[in-house]
Amino acid sequence: MSDVKTLLKKRGLKVTPARTTILEVFNGKNYALSFKDLNKELGGALDKVTIYRTLKSFEESGIIHEVMDGSPQVKYALCHHEGCSSEVHYDAHVHFKCERCNRTYCLESTQIPTIVLPQGYFVSKQFVSLQGMCKNCH
Ligand SMILES: [Zn+2]
Ligand SMILES: [Zn+2]
Ligand SMILES: [Zn+2]
Repeated sequence: MSDVKTLLKKRGLKVTPARTTILEVFNGKNYALSFKDLNKELGGALDKVTIYRTLKSFEESGIIHEVMDGSPQVKYALCHHEGCSSEVHYDAHVHFKCERCNRTYCLESTQIPTIVLPQGYFVSKQFVSLQGMCKNCH
């Protein structure tokens, strides 16, 4: 059985051709993909509703996480944290957008520093995104 199918099962998702196809696209990239990027990669192989639903189910199952990099479109990247689940994501790492190649990478080993908030504020999501030049571009 392929890694993709194992991952789907581990996260409690039924293996479908659309899920396998989309997960394979994510597996082949080391940067985050927006809905538009994904649609382009798939070359029209799947309809938009299916892509949208699949992304949602992946996010809810702890397979991918949202990446906000200041672009109008939200991007998604594979979770590499064992603990990610339908309840909670633990991807508290920094994202890095390269101005040259226009790709946004997960900097898995760069954790978001603890941010101290005034009393009465509670965080549900945090996005830290840096911009500059990636290691492949200089
Ligand atoms: Zn996650
Ligand atoms: Zn780059
Ligand atoms: Zn990430």
